[in-house]
Amino acid sequence: MAKVVVIGAGVGGATAAALLARAGHEVTVLEAHVYPGGCAGTFYHKGYRFDAGATLAGGFQPGGPHTLVGQMLDLVWRVVPVDPAWRVVLPDRVITQHADREAWRGELARAFADSPQREAICRFFSAVERVSDAVWRFAARRPTWPPACATDLLRVAAALRPDTLIALPHLFESIGAWARRSGVTDRRALTFLDAQLLISAQTTSAHASALFGAAALDLPRKGVVHPEGGIGSISEQLVEAVQRFGGQVLFRQEVVRLETRDGSVVAAHTNKGLRVPCDVCIANLTPWDLARLLGDAAPSRLVRETRTRAEPWGAFTLYLGVEDDPSADHPDHIQVVRDHNAPLGEGNTIFMSFSSRGDARRAPPGHRALTISTHTRLAEWWRLRETPGMKTAYDDRVAAYAERMLDLAERAVPGLRRRIRLQLHGTPITFQFYTRRHRGGVGGFPFTSLFAARGPWTGLANAWLVGDSIFPGQSTAGVTMGALRVCDEVLRAFPAPRPLPRVEVA
Ligand SMILES: Cc1cc2nc3c(=O)[nH]c(=O)nc-3n(C[C@H](O)[C@H](O)[C@H](O)COP(=O)(O)OP(=O)(O)OC[C@H]3O[C@@H](n4cnc5c(N)ncnc54)[C@H](O)[C@@H]3O)c2cc1C
Repeated sequence: MAKVVVIGAGVGGATAAALLARAGHEVTVLEAHVYPGGCAGTFYHKGYRFDAGATLAGGFQPGGPHTLVGQMLDLVWRVVPVDPAWRVVLPDRVITQHADREAWRGELARAFADSPQREAICRFFSAVERVSDAVWRFAARRPTWPPACATDLLRVAAALRPDTLIALPHLFESIGAWARRSGVTDRRALTFLDAQLLISAQTTSAHASALFGAAALDLPRKGVVHPEGGIGSISEQLVEAVQRFGGQVLFRQEVVRLETRDGSVVAAHTNKGLRVPCDVCIANLTPWDLARLLGDAAPSRLVRETRTRAEPWGAFTLYLGVEDDPSADHPDHIQVVRDHNAPLGEGNTIFMSFSSRGDARRAPPGHRALTISTHTRLAEWWRLRETPGMKTAYDDRVAAYAERMLDLAERAVPGLRRRIRLQLHGTPITFQFYTRRHRGGVGGFPFTSLFAARGPWTGLANAWLVGDSIFPGQSTAGVTMGALRVCDEVLRAFPAPRPLPRVEVA
C-alpha cells in the first residue's frame, strides 16, 4: 500500500483520489478551499447555489468516462439528462441542440434552410457524428495518449478497431479544413462551429483538431446532464467515495511547498503547518502552479514549459439570482453570439445556464440561479489590477463586461434584466483567488492537434499532473479521462491491494 497525496479536489484530483483509495492505497487529499470542485464547484450565496464555472457535463453515456468511474467506484451519479442540451442564438438565427439525432437533423436542415450550402452543412454534420462515434468508442477503450513509451504505443494499438479507420483521414487536419473540404464555407455555419469549439476545445474551427472537434460538436447527441444540486455535486460524490474507501479529504489545507529527495516528492507542506509524507504525489494543478510549489527543485523541462507556453484563456462570469418567469420557454442552457464578424469571447459570446425550474436546492421558490460566462484574455485584467492608480479602470472594465453580457443575455431571454434580484461577478483575479490557478487561467490548453497534447509528466519520478492541463484537457469528462490514465500509471508503478474492477467496454 502506498501513501498517496492528492493536491486539490477538482474533478480531476477527486477522481484520481477516489480510484486510488478504491484500489487500496492510503489517500490524503489536501484542498485549499472549503468545498471541492474548483472550476466545477457550486457555491452558496444568499439563498442561491451558483455553479462557479462549469454548468453542464458530458461523459455520462454508456462507456463515457464518468460512467466508467461510477462503475469502478460503485456509485450512482445524481444527474439528470438535459434535452435539448442547449440553444445557440446567432445574430440571425436560433439553433437548438437536440439530443435526439433525428430531431437534430431536422433542426439543422431548418436552421440553414436559406443557405445554398444547406445540404453540404447537413452532410458535414452527419460525417461529424460518425467520426465522433468512432472517437468516443476508441476513447472508452482507454488508450494511453499521448504515449510516453513503446508500451503506451502498444496500448494505443490495442484500442484500435476496424471502425477507428473512419477517423484516420482527419488525424492531421483542423475541423475548419474538414468543413471547407466538405463545401461548408457559409460564415453563419462557421460561427456556429466556432462558438461551440471555443467552449469545448478552447480554440476555433481553423485551429481545433478535427477529431477532438468532432467529439465536442457531437456532445449534445452523446448526452449531457445537469448534476442535481449543481455541478459541484460531481466532486462531492467523489469526495464521499474517497472517504468510503478509507481515504481522507482535508479542506482549508493549501499546499504551499513540496519537499523532494532524489527527484521524487516525499512530502507536501500546507499553509496550516501540516506535513503529509507521501510515496506518490498527484497534483491537480497547472504546470505553473506545480513549478511554484517545487521551487528550486522544479525539473528544468517543467520550468522551460512555464516560460514558453502561451497563457490559457480566462473567464469573466456573472452570477445572477433571478425571479423566474413561468411563461418563458427556453432551454436551461443558451449560448449567444453578438456578431458573426466580431472576435469570439470578451462578451461577444456568452454561455448562460439557469438552475432547473423549481429546483429548491439551487434557488428560493420562484427564483433561479443563473451563471453567465465569457472567455477573456488574462493580461489586461492583471495589468489593471497590479498597476497603481488603475482601480477605477479595473472597476469600469468589470462594469463594461457585465453590461455587454447582460445586453446579450437579454436578446436571448427578453425581460431578464428586470428580474435580476442579486448580481455578483468573477474575473480572472477571482478565479485565481478561489481556485489558486496561475493568473486565473482556466480551461486548459487549446486542442489544436493530438500530437501537441500534453501528458501527465512532471519530470519527477513519483508525481503526476491531473486536471485540464493534461490530455484531453478541459471539461469534467476530459479531466476524468486524464485521471483514469494517471491511475493506470500509478497502479502499474505502485501495485495496490485491490485491483480496480474491470469495466466492460465494447
Ligand atoms: C467559466 C467556465 C465554464 C466552464 N463550463 C464548463 C461546462 O459547462 N462543462 C464542463 O464540463 N466544463 C466546463 N468548464 C471547464 C471545467 O470546469 C474544468 O475543465 C474542470 O472543472 C477542471 O478540473 P480540474 O481537475 O483541472 O480542477 P480545478 O477545477 O482546477 O480544481 C483544482 C482544485 O485544486 C485546488 N487547489 C489548487 N491549488 C491548490 C493547492 N496549492 N493546495 C490545495 N488545493 C489546491 C483548488 O482549490 C481546486 O479545488 C468551464 C470552466 C470555466 C472556468
